Amino acid sequence: MAKHRLTVVVVGCGRLGSLVASRLSEAGHSVVVVDANPDAFGALGRTFSGFTITGDAAELAVLERAEVGRADLLVAATSLDTVNLMVTQAAIHVLGCRSAIARVFDPRREATYRQLGVETICPTTLAAAELFERVTAAGREGGA
Ligand code: AMP
Repeated sequence: MAKHRLTVVVVGCGRLGSLVASRLSEAGHSVVVVDANPDAFGALGRTFSGFTITGDAAELAVLERAEVGRADLLVAATSLDTVNLMVTQAAIHVLGCRSAIARVFDPRREATYRQLGVETICPTTLAAAELFERVTAAGREGGA
């Protein structure tokens, strides 16, 4: 169980968001998940004990309903980089969320987003680094 119970809003309950939300909830954190498609919440684990909100996260009213302003952290994991950027900016600069992380698919956008003060996580960059490590390790050991 988590020492410090955090309040986390996860926006986008797809492959990444549902996993993150389920794990955070299981670890004892208070989690609110937002998705435009209510069917997406079916991907949450059975032990998920947080709240779900159906709505377009690009609408400020939806983020307000999720009480983003009271959250310790927001994770923006919708399928669109631009929506994730907008959501993290609104969360911090308009609603007063303490911190926010955006999933960014396009590595070329990562630097720009960081210049705007947005914390990012790019699956493509992470996968490339991991693949590089594995290939060079296999090379050191003399075969894959
Ligand atoms: P995935 O790419 O599998 O991680 O899934 C992304 C999730 O983001 C899907 O469940 C979509 O329904 C959700 N999504 C996409 N756009 C929005 C949006 N504007 N507001 C809320 N959820 C969204």
